[in-house]
Amino acid sequence: MRIYKSVAEMQAACREVRRGGKRLGLVPTMGALHAGHLSLVRAARASCDVVAATIFVNPLQFGPNEDLAKYPRTWEKDVAALEAERVDLLFAPSPEEMYPPGATTYVIVEGLSEKLDGKSRPGHFRGVTTVVAKLFEIVRPEVAFFGQKDAAQVAVIRKMVDDLNVDIRIQVCPIVREPDGLAMSSRHSYLDVNQRKQALVLHRALMRIQFEVDRGQGLSARLIETGKGVIAEVPEVKIDYLEIVDPDTLDPVSDVSKGALVAVAAYLGTTRLIDNIVVGRQSSVVSDANR
Ligand code: AMP
Repeated sequence: MRIYKSVAEMQAACREVRRGGKRLGLVPTMGALHAGHLSLVRAARASCDVVAATIFVNPLQFGPNEDLAKYPRTWEKDVAALEAERVDLLFAPSPEEMYPPGATTYVIVEGLSEKLDGKSRPGHFRGVTTVVAKLFEIVRPEVAFFGQKDAAQVAVIRKMVDDLNVDIRIQVCPIVREPDGLAMSSRHSYLDVNQRKQALVLHRALMRIQFEVDRGQGLSARLIETGKGVIAEVPEVKIDYLEIVDPDTLDPVSDVSKGALVAVAAYLGTTRLIDNIVVGRQSSVVSDANR
C-alpha cells in the first residue's frame, strides 16, 4: 500500500491509475476503522482494480462543541487493517493540506443539509459535502463507497453528485452490526460498559418498529410513538430525533407503504449515536437498483 499525505502526490498516483485504464474505487473514512469501514473496502476490492482509501478527520464537519479533538485516532492499527484488505493507495492529508489558509470555497446541498443530522448539527453536511467533493476531485474514482449507517449523508452526497453532474457512481453498503445488533461506530470507544448496554436500545427500538410494520402497521406517527416508547425505557438515552422519512428527500412520510427510512439519533452522555432501517420494501439499503 502506498501512503500519500500530499494532495499533489495522491492526485498524480490516481491519474496514473486512470491512464492505465484501471477501474478505481474510493473509500472515504475518518479512520478508527472497524468492520463497518472494512466492509466498504471489501466491496471496493471486489469490484475495482485499484482501491483508494482515505483517512481524514475532517474539522469542517465538526461543530464548535463537538468531539473533533477527542475523535479516536488509531493510525497504526488502521494502516495494518487496510494493508490486510489489500488497499492500494491510502490518502491521509493533514487539515492544513486539505484546507490551506485562505481556502474559501464550500459545497452546500441546500435543503437536505438541514434535515435529520443537519438539523441538530448545523454546518455538518456542508463540511461533509465540501470534503467529499474535494476527495472526488483529487481521486476521480469510477465508484465511491459509502455506508448505509449514515443514511442522511448518503442522501446528501447523492444529491450533490446529481446536481453537479459528478461522473462517479455511489455504491451504498449495508450497516455492519455487532453480534448483539448495535451498529458499529468509531464513537463506541467513548462508551463505558454500562453505556454500551444502554446503547442497544436504539437497535431494539428499530427492531420493534420493523416488527410492527411486519404486522401491518403502516402509520408513521404510530410507529414513531412505539419506537420512542422503547427508547424511554432507558432514561439515560436522550433522543435527538426519531423520524420516518423518504430516503431521498429526507422529508417525513405519513405512512411506510412505499418504503421509508426509519432513522434515529440519540445522546448517551455526550456521545451521539445514530442508526436506521429501511422498511416497507425488500432492501435494507437505500439501493442503487433504480439508479
Ligand atoms: P466515518 O469514518 O465514520 O466517516 O465512516 C466512513 C464510512 O464508513 C462512511 O461511509 C460510513 O457510513 C461507513 N460506516 C461507518 N460505520 C459503518 C457501519 N457500521 N456499517 C457500514 N458502514 C459504516
